[in-house]
Formats: sequence, C-alpha cells, structure tokens
Amino acid sequence: IFLSGTLLSLLVGGVCWLLFSLCKQPGKEILQGIKRGEFHVEYQPLITSYNGQPYGAEALLRWTHPTEGAIPPDVFINYAETQNLIIPLTRHLFQLVARDAHLLSRHVPAGTIMGLNISPLHLASETFRDDVLCWMKAMPVDHFSYVFEITERTIVRDKSAGELFSWLHRQGIKIAIDDFGTGHSALIYLERYAFDYLKIDRGFVQSIGTETVTSPVLDTVLQLAKQLKMKTVAEGVETGDQAAWLINRGVTHLQGYIFSRPLRPEPLIDYFELHSA
Ligand code: C2E
Ligand code: CA
Ligand code: CA
Ligand code: CA
Repeated sequence: IFLSGTLLSLLVGGVCWLLFSLCKQPGKEILQGIKRGEFHVEYQPLITSYNGQPYGAEALLRWTHPTEGAIPPDVFINYAETQNLIIPLTRHLFQLVARDAHLLSRHVPAGTIMGLNISPLHLASETFRDDVLCWMKAMPVDHFSYVFEITERTIVRDKSAGELFSWLHRQGIKIAIDDFGTGHSALIYLERYAFDYLKIDRGFVQSIGTETVTSPVLDTVLQLAKQLKMKTVAEGVETGDQAAWLINRGVTHLQGYIFSRPLRPEPLIDYFELHSA
C-alpha cells in the first residue's frame, strides 16, 4: 500500500516533468539553475525519542524554477541521475550546505548531526572521495557530525561498497540506510555492513494503526536493528499516535511534520533554540 503512494507521487511528478521537458531542455536547465542560484537547501529537524529534542537535521535540496515554480526533488534528482548531472548537482548541494553551516554553527550545539542524501551514482564515481574531502574542508571545523543517507539500491549494485563504507567511517562520516523497507530483502546487508542508522520509510510509518500486516514486519526489523546496535529513525511521523507507537517499540529517533517541516537556516535556528534544553 505504501509503495503505491510513493509510486503515485513519482508518477504525478513524472507527468509534470514530462510536460515541462517537452518544451524545455531540463539538463541545460539544471546547470543554468545552479549558475543562477535557483537551488537552496531546507533542513528538517531530527528528534531524539526520549526527550523530544532536536539532535540534527536532514538537508533537502529545493529548486525554484523561474517559470515552473517549485519542482519536486524526487523529480529533478531522478532526472539529474539519468542525465549524468547528479555529480555537479551534489557538489552544488555541498557548497550550499557549507555556506549555511557557517551561520548554523554559531547557533546550534557542537556535535549536531548534518544528514545529506547521497546518490548511488555519485558514491560509485571516481571523484566521490575527493568531492567529500573538499566539502569537509569547506565546512566549519569540528562542529557538525555527518551522516550520509544512502538507499538499499547502493549496496546491491556496488561490489566495493564495504571498502567505501569503511573509508567514510575513517573520515568520521556515519552511514544511514534510507527508505528502509522499500527495496528487496536487505536484511542480509544489515548484518554484513556496519551501518549506524536505519531509516524506516514513511510508508511503514503511515501504515501504523491501519489494519495491515506491516507491524510484525516492522517489529522484526526493529529487533534486528537493536541486536546489530543500529540507531533507528522513523521518517514521515505525522501524528501523535504514530510517535507514541514508534517510541513504544524502541525507535530511537523521529522525523516528520508533527515536529517540523524542512526549514530554511534561520527558522531552523529558532527551532533549535525553542526545543533544546
Ligand atoms: P527522503 O530522503 O526520503 O527525504 C524525506 C522526504 O520526506 C522529504 O521529501 C521530506 O520533506 C518528506 N517528509 C518529511 N517528513 C514528512 C511527513 O511527516 N510527511 C510527509 N508526507 N512527508 C515528509 P522531499 O524533500 O520532497 O524529498 C524527496 C526525496 O528527494 C528525498 O526523500 C530524497 O530521496 C530526494 N532528495 C531530496 N534532496 C536531495 C539531495 O540533496 N540529494 C539527493 N540525492 N536526493 C535528494
Ligand atoms: Ca533521506
Ligand atoms: Ca527516506
Ligand atoms: Ca523517500
């Protein structure tokens, strides 16, 4: 059921994009958009379950096209991936995050988590390690902790994934498995690699309380995560009932509209100031 929700949003986005691309050249548009400063980043607070306080944020890219308006990230990320533009786009993301981070670091505590979504295509590329090192040099020194969010797809397709993950760990970057539950049988990979966080897909979360069989599956996944000493993050938490259910099951971290939508840097600082002890 939750898969169909995701598929539907992708489909709707895809149709919009198709109409858009019939009259424009989206590849050129993305590169132009970078040059013209049409992209910005919003940060969605990540919450610690036991005290309800923010411990970090996930960076989410936004594109405001001059004539089309806001284009959904699912759509333009997908397009960037198929058009070989994901590397320049992610480098641009790195730049924008580094710029915001200098402001943020003056207001949020040291050790705050900064989560970034990394495309499997970029991870597998030759320039990836240099791009990461370059980004870390541009970030404020010793302030943020980094988490790279990657999807199950990455592990399945890249044979040298293990080596890459240990390299990231040596740089002090933690790894989160994103959208867990939308791919195929990745349980085996959880055991093979030392991931730090497991992000439970929004679809799982939204099925809580409805008459489906997802709860036993989720229970099993949560038990496994606990045994493997992974932290768990439930995404897309929209109701108090969902939050209570998840906390009850031992989910350690939460994210979703019930806490906050993704925010620009200034409102993010306000959020941290209002909700920290
Ligand atoms: P994601 O990584 O799973 O990001 C979480 C998405 O869930 C975000 O959508 C966020 O706004 C949305 N969300 C958070 N809480 C709730 C909630 O309570 N309810 C609902 N309905 N939605 C919630 P967004 O920003 O539209 O991003 C969509 C996807 O686009 C992301 O999914 C990620 O896969 C991709 N994406 C976004 N920014 C980047 C980026 O900088 N790089 C890459 N590679 N992918 C990105
Ligand atoms: Ca993510
Ligand atoms: Ca996700
Ligand atoms: Ca997603």
